[in-house]
Amino acid sequence: MTDPDTRVAGALKRLADRAALLDAADELAHLRDRFLLPDGVVYLDGNSLGALPAAVPPAVEDAVRRQWGTDLIRSWNDNAWWDAPTRIGDAIGRLVGAAPGQVVCGDSTSVQLYNALTAAARLRPDRTLLLTDPDHFPTDQYIADAVARVLGLTVRRVPVAELPDVLAAEGHRVAVAAYGPVDYRTGELYDTAALTAAVHGAGAVVLWDLCHAAGALPVELDAIEADFAVGCGYKYLSGGPGAPAFVYVAARHQDAFDHAITGWHGHAAPFAMEGTYTPASGITRARIGTPPLLSMLALEAALTAFDGVELPELRAKSLSLTGFFLDCADILLDGLGFTVATPREPERRGSQVSLRHEHAYPMVQALTAHGFIGDMRAPDILRFGFNALYVTHRDVYGVVAELLRVTAGGEYADDRYAARATVT
Ligand SMILES: *Cc1c(COP(=O)(O)O)cnc(C)c1O
Repeated sequence: MTDPDTRVAGALKRLADRAALLDAADELAHLRDRFLLPDGVVYLDGNSLGALPAAVPPAVEDAVRRQWGTDLIRSWNDNAWWDAPTRIGDAIGRLVGAAPGQVVCGDSTSVQLYNALTAAARLRPDRTLLLTDPDHFPTDQYIADAVARVLGLTVRRVPVAELPDVLAAEGHRVAVAAYGPVDYRTGELYDTAALTAAVHGAGAVVLWDLCHAAGALPVELDAIEADFAVGCGYKYLSGGPGAPAFVYVAARHQDAFDHAITGWHGHAAPFAMEGTYTPASGITRARIGTPPLLSMLALEAALTAFDGVELPELRAKSLSLTGFFLDCADILLDGLGFTVATPREPERRGSQVSLRHEHAYPMVQALTAHGFIGDMRAPDILRFGFNALYVTHRDVYGVVAELLRVTAGGEYADDRYAARATVT
């Protein structure tokens, strides 16, 4: 009989060796150099705030000093500020399977949701139901309620698993189904193609919130015939804190896109300064007002981290990382009270792994204190996000080994990890 400490030491050694082999064989390993990651930090929260791409600081410096400081107002033309929302929209479009001319970048996800959901519901004026996920990110649920209040609709919260049955039974009353491809807490990935087809089968329109999918895995908006989508710029797209979001309006809906916030940048002739709104044609009408250009140019530079990267390759590496995390957790954390909240089947897994534990909060605090950054979501989820552009298998091994250390040794129970900060 080997004693438990020897067994654990052997398992740690074998997993560390496997991490080294997997990293040595990783053809995307060089992409990590496109990010400025601090020494001594393992960053597994890129699903909440992406790491800083190396291309961003010089782009922001140029935007501030030359474009703003020197070229001043002339930049709207000379530095192509005016076209930034559609130009950057097209760059995001490449990552979400959208042909050019269907994505606009700007504002926050919450604002884009409000606008797109309103437009989506108005495409089905004779219908009264707006379906959304009871486990959707809170802002998505609040905005569904807000849109319903203004348009006189009823929101029904239907879990994804029940959506096909509800559509089959009552689909004729459904105007819009607003869902996300990935559950932000558990990391479960849904079949967007099948769900889109089910929504269309009922004659309704679908709105996908891509916050946890864009830049993390292949999303084929055109191929699945999605109607609308929104997503944020600061998670897997690594555009920086408060980076502008984006909205996708399928080309076939653009002429009928009747949204809530009709701003002057979406006018057919913005500089005619007319007193009434005439929508521009094409995706341009989804523009609202003056965009946050510094943030937008930072996001544009951040997107160059994807240059030459094919999403299926990125997906393969992401699955290797999350699969390896599950293996490490099964072997090292057995018997310590953790359960895995993320589906084990690769096709049902986004780019994160979530564990449940009653002491999730202090455990995540203890990990952070030692430079392993994940996050927690109430009440009991430890969440680890894997941006395959910069996360290594060595990082994965490291965080699970550290979780074992702070848990088995009881360090997480230390008083200093108990106090809750505003942002968890
Ligand atoms: C992150 C996230 C948001 C954030 O919305 P903001 O307006 O950017 O604060 C919205 N929805 C989902 C599904 C998210 O994951």
